[in-house]
Parts: sequence; C-alpha cells; structure tokens
Amino acid sequence: MDIKAIDAAYVAGTYARFPLTLVSGKGSLVTSDEGKEYIDLGSGIGVTAFGIADEAWTEAVSLQLGRLQHTSNLYYTEPCALLAKRLCERTGMKKVFFGNSGAEANECAIKVARQYGIEKKGEEYTTLITLKNSFHGRTITTLAATGQDVFHAKFQPLTPGFVHGVANDLDSIKSLVKGNKVCGVMIECVQGEGGVIALDGDFVRGVAQLCQENDLVFIVDEVQTGNGRTGALYAYMNYGVCPDVVTTAKGLGGGLPIGACLMGDRVEKVLGFGDHGSTYGGNPVCAAGALSVIERLDDALLQEVKEKSQYVFDALRGAKGVEAVSGLGLMIGIKTEKNAKELVAKCMEKGVLCLTAKDKIRLLPALNIPFALLKKAIDVIKEVCAE
Ligand SMILES: *Cc1c(COP(=O)(O)O)cnc(C)c1O
Repeated sequence: MDIKAIDAAYVAGTYARFPLTLVSGKGSLVTSDEGKEYIDLGSGIGVTAFGIADEAWTEAVSLQLGRLQHTSNLYYTEPCALLAKRLCERTGMKKVFFGNSGAEANECAIKVARQYGIEKKGEEYTTLITLKNSFHGRTITTLAATGQDVFHAKFQPLTPGFVHGVANDLDSIKSLVKGNKVCGVMIECVQGEGGVIALDGDFVRGVAQLCQENDLVFIVDEVQTGNGRTGALYAYMNYGVCPDVVTTAKGLGGGLPIGACLMGDRVEKVLGFGDHGSTYGGNPVCAAGALSVIERLDDALLQEVKEKSQYVFDALRGAKGVEAVSGLGLMIGIKTEKNAKELVAKCMEKGVLCLTAKDKIRLLPALNIPFALLKKAIDVIKEVCAE
C-alpha cells in the first residue's frame, strides 16, 4: 500500500507533510514504515509530553477506555472532575471549561472576556487586544485574534473586535486601550508559531498591571507553552504574573485531544448555564490521560526540563552555522545561517525529526527525553548546521 499516495489523493491538501510515514514508537524514538528509527524532537508539535506509548500514560488511558469512553456533558465523570480540581489546585484558578483543542480553549477565553466587558462596562466593550506575530488558532475567530496577515488574507471577513499591539512595546498596548472599547488582552508568553520568541518580563508584567488598572481580562494563551514545556507548570509562572484566564491544550492530553480554559477569581462566574458547551469537552479518556500528565509535572521533572534546556542552549549558542538560539525551557528556536527547512530535511535523513517556526528550526522534544538521546540529536543538528 502506498500510504503517501492514498493520503495525497484523499486527505485535504492543507498540510505540507514530510515524506515520512510513521507507524510506531517508544518514548522519544519513532519508527517509519520502512523500519527506520528517528529521534523525535517535535513530539507531535509539543503534544506527546511524555513521548510515545509512555507506560503510565498508556495505562491511565487504557483503564478509562475499557471502562467508559464517553458520556456527554449531561453526566458527571470522575476524570473530568478530578482534572479540573488538579488544574485549579496547581494554578490558583477557580473554574475550568474543557474543549478539544487550543483554538476551542481560546474561543472560550474570548467569550469570557467579551461577556465580562459587556457586563462590567457596557455592550460596546468587546474588543480584544492581541499581539502582532501571535498565533491563537485556525477558527475564524481565533484567526482574527492571530496577529499575522498571512493567515487572514483568504478568509475575510473575519470576526470583528480584534486589534493587534506590538510585542514588548507597552506604549502600543496602552494606546490601543485608550483608542478602543477593550474587554481584554491576550498574549503568548513565548510566541511559538511566531518564531519561538520569549516576551520581555517587564512587558508581560506591564500588560498584567494595565489589565488590573483598567479592569480588563488578562488572558495568557498557554496552548504551546503550558504543561511543563518552559520549565514551569505554565509559562506565566516564570513571569510572576497572575492571569485572569489561562488557555491550554497541546501537551495537556499527552497525545489525546483536549483543551482547557482556566478562569480565575475575577471571571469565574462569567459563564453560566447555556453560555458555552462542547459535546466531547472533558471526555473521560482524554481527561484521564491529561490527569496522568499533570500529576507527573512535579518539581523534579520541571527541574529536568530546565537542565535539558540549558544543555541545548549551551551546545547550540555560538555553534558553527547557528546565528541565535531563542525560547524558554524545551521550547527552542534556532536561527541558522542556512535555510531552516532544508536543514530540517537533512536532520531527517540523519534520523532526527525537528520542526520549523518562521525561518527557524524549532525544537519541542518530549519533556522526559533521555539526556543521551537529546545529546545525540543535538550533535546531528550541529553537524548539519556546520556543513
Ligand atoms: C497550536 C496553538 C493553538 C491552536 O491549537 P489547536 O489545538 O491546533 O487548535 C493556539 N495557540 C497557540 C499558542 C498554539 O501554539
């Protein structure tokens, strides 16, 4: 069977796939249909937080799968309730809404901010400020939130009510607050798709304070940065701020689709009966997987993420063919002298899977990638960059 040809014939042509069919894996190693093994530094775009077929995760998921795979939100289930409880306990947030993806988590956050603005200030207060070069999802509304024109061009008219400020320029945010009827501000602490760029601490704290002073909903999109990725449970914790809303997905489910919108004190009561919903939201199998992920993101694991991060930064900074290294924790961007896409193809030939973001190589390895594998893979990247 020629899987690539069947896929190309029948799957919507929205993806530029690598010429590689994966069939199995274990931890940070994945195997192709040709039996070739690769070190995985992409983890399904930051999703398989503990790698492939991780034992504890697989056990948690299988147990729930054999018990009860779905109920709808007309009934209570234990995994959904316990996951919400643990997320709140570990963040100080008060309520959680579950969906199936990052975009849906952000849709919920946008609803919360608009409803808050309308209730507190009046029905015109529905505008959200997001940042240029941000990425918040692919639905028509989260595309509108995404501050990159390339994503907008083909899908006009997008949802109105979004204005885009400049990252690390607090005055640009302040003037947007003055000039619009604003209900909230949404940022990624590390812009992922935008090129793995960590925002300045002063800027993030400035935005948090501005939101406090103007009674705006401060939303942090942790879809990519969340769940241990940056060496903190959530990236905002590195910045000493306290958001009103935190959205997350990707790594949360460890490989099953789940998104969450966490709501703090100020907004916990904004959504009431009938205001929002999702058929699959909080699905017990996904929630069981997520619960096992969250329980394992302890101080020791987060410390390990920081150490691995330090290793990668030290190994690549100043290496031949490398112009700069950016990011936080195990969310790393490598600006290379040569074309990043071509280098990623070369890495693949040499048995290492990497991602790109804008003009950079992007790494999002599993948080528990063994040091030896990480070193081996980084050596390959160095070799390829130096050629
Ligand atoms: C991936 C991503 C999204 C979208 O998540 P989906 O699960 O693909 O809908 C939103 N925000 C950020 C920051 C992301 O990295």
